Amino acid sequence: MGQQPPIALVAGGAGFIGSHLCRALTERGFEVLCLDNLQTARPSNLRVLEDLPGFTFVEADIVNALPATVMRHARRITRIYNCACAASPPQYQADPEHTMLTNVVGTHHLLRLAEQSGARFLLTSTSEVYGDPEVHPQVEGYRGWVSCTGPRACYDEGKRAAEAMTFDYARMARAEVRVARIFNTYGPHMHPDDGRVVSNLVCQALTGNDITVYGDGTQTRSFCYVSDMVEGLIRLMESDIDGMEPVNLGNPDEFTIGELLDKVLALVPTDGRVIHMDLPQDDPRRRRPDIARARSLLGWEPKVRIDDGLPRTAAWFAEELGVSTPALMAAE
Ligand code: UDP
Repeated sequence: MGQQPPIALVAGGAGFIGSHLCRALTERGFEVLCLDNLQTARPSNLRVLEDLPGFTFVEADIVNALPATVMRHARRITRIYNCACAASPPQYQADPEHTMLTNVVGTHHLLRLAEQSGARFLLTSTSEVYGDPEVHPQVEGYRGWVSCTGPRACYDEGKRAAEAMTFDYARMARAEVRVARIFNTYGPHMHPDDGRVVSNLVCQALTGNDITVYGDGTQTRSFCYVSDMVEGLIRLMESDIDGMEPVNLGNPDEFTIGELLDKVLALVPTDGRVIHMDLPQDDPRRRRPDIARARSLLGWEPKVRIDDGLPRTAAWFAEELGVSTPALMAAE
């Protein structure tokens, strides 16, 4: 009998980034064990994965003890990706206690598994560890401006705690680790009701609903297409770098939300009105990654510009929502 392939465990593998990651890992010869509690995942993300060779889904919440299926395969697990946590503000604020526990207790369970199995562990951390940043663009050495009392704290501080625990495991030689700080990412497989700006604006335009701009739209974000993000995550996991350094992954092209809106409206003509709503509490004013570290350590940089990624994303949403937009279909 030939040798069995190594297993990559992907926690949160039915989610937006996780589902693209699962596919990419099967294409690279891994068996993939996908854990997800289906809190924010879309069932259709799983449907496109289920037929992939070597793909197994286990419904499980990493806040609880890891399921027997995982422990049974522990010796074959060589890679653990932790992508498990609701990442959109309205979603992670709906159950803030669970958000914090997912990041702290869930990460602990996966780190323990990494210690037992000898697998390398990658934490998907976030640009939110920089909070509402005073340093622009954000370099990894910047320690952040984060509120521990506000409504974003369950996520921001949860991820900061998860980073601290991950680096402690590495410092004590209990696990080999990698930490990616993910900046805003978009693309197919986002939930139409995710509540984030790309999915909201595109879906509102497609359905002719009011288009919601929070604040005056002068706040900025930098949007990375999901295929670039997945490539960055796998390169980081597979690189031989010193895992004690977090690595920013994101696209440094920075836009105001107003500019993003103009791009959406040029792509999806709509009868919907643009309405301005209050800026959410602690909403960062500016965000843009400094990716010099990823460039030099991983030879990675994003390839897909927003003018290519946005039409592909809008075409995918149009199909999901059953909206016929012949002009967009060519983009997919
Ligand atoms: N935003 C907006 N309209 C929406 C959703 C979000 O103007 O329908 C704004 C939001 O206030 C923020 C930016 O878009 O300034 C990005 O928000 P998102 O929730 O996508 O991500 P995050 O705030 O986590 O970067």
